[in-house]
Amino acid sequence: MITIEEALSTILAHINPLKSEYFELADCLGRVLAQDITARDDIPPFANSAMDGFAVRAGDTLGASLEQPVTLTVLEDLPAGRNTDTEVGAGQAIRIMTGAPLPAGADSVVKVEDSALANEVGEEQVMIFHEAGKGEHVRLAGESVKKSELVLKSGVILRPAEIGMLAALGYPRVSVVPPPRVTILSTGDELLDIEEELKAGKIRDCNRYSLAAMVNRYGGKPASLGIAPDRKDDLKKILSIALTTDLVITSGGVSVGKYDLVREAIGELGGELLIDRVSMKPGKPLIFSLVGGVPVFSLPGNPVSVLVSFIQFVRPALLKMQGKNRLRKPEVEAILAEDCDERTDRTHLVRVNLEMKDGINYVRLAGPQGSGILRSLVLSNGLMIIPPNRGPFKSGERVNVMLTEAEEIE
Ligand code: AMP
Ligand code: MG
Repeated sequence: MITIEEALSTILAHINPLKSEYFELADCLGRVLAQDITARDDIPPFANSAMDGFAVRAGDTLGASLEQPVTLTVLEDLPAGRNTDTEVGAGQAIRIMTGAPLPAGADSVVKVEDSALANEVGEEQVMIFHEAGKGEHVRLAGESVKKSELVLKSGVILRPAEIGMLAALGYPRVSVVPPPRVTILSTGDELLDIEEELKAGKIRDCNRYSLAAMVNRYGGKPASLGIAPDRKDDLKKILSIALTTDLVITSGGVSVGKYDLVREAIGELGGELLIDRVSMKPGKPLIFSLVGGVPVFSLPGNPVSVLVSFIQFVRPALLKMQGKNRLRKPEVEAILAEDCDERTDRTHLVRVNLEMKDGINYVRLAGPQGSGILRSLVLSNGLMIIPPNRGPFKSGERVNVMLTEAEEIE
């Protein structure tokens, strides 16, 4: 049986980034940019005030202090969004708001906190308590971005800051790698839709929902094809509908039972089986195939296996399709806070809970490790990686843990 690493490299060798498309900026969060972005204008486009205060000539404020203020005549108010032709002359000031263009004649801004109004009959006077340096509290045109400059390179992931920058540069739409369209199918005669009443021998289909959530989490667009019965012809029919999308995920029906018919259905549809079983626990019965060029992940049916295999294999494939390069979940070293004997002859991905105390990660099992026990996945925040035939481990030993819930730029 092949290892997790071997399986992953086979899978990734058959996954290509999707062709880029233009998207509205509001739909671009997390997408990979597929064009270089140059600035059409300076940002800011004009010199403006960084403070609410008074636009002055720095030379007029020479020696100004709390004890010896300088008094200037206020010519007018200049709010943000307005322009003025009035020039600030010697002994004069314009009351200016943050973001308003610096008027002609002025070369610095005294903030309102360093001034006091001294109203006189007829004209307004302001006392300045601070010797302004030239350019103080002035944002220069182009200080953030210069016109024609390359601002964002093709290949970057668009975070909120990049989205804001694109808006500031006047790009309502940009070329990005689109979200993969992913079809999800549950298989099994025992499955009921979650709306249905439980009946003898039946269980609710949870994989379709957890898989759709995973697809959403990692930037894909999930669509559900419902539940397929354990009949080959039905499986073939439903699978062939799914093959119009970028990626297909099925769950169940890939083990060695008499009614595990997904393998045969894929074969009869002309699919090329590239992986059949991986040396991991949970998640051993996994098939990866290309059917008519479309990658198909046939995941095991157990609710834990399905999610652990998704994290290991589907997630990196989905990210690669979106043009991303950082495909691995982060791993950390942790100290076992209890004894643990979870030996198997495969790589065991053990549901654990990781907690940091005084800068050190401590790890405990999140519950029983049966591959149907979704509860312990609910209670976990990581997967401890135990290589084949290793253990038992004693409390205090060092282990590696994959952070399944880590905040990251996916
Ligand atoms: P299978 O590989 O089809 O034999 O499924 C393995 C186990 O997972 C069986 O106990 C199934 O009932 C269960 N199972 C399969 N699909 C689902 C599903 N969509 N939701 C919940 N349990 C499932
Ligand atoms: Mg089944």
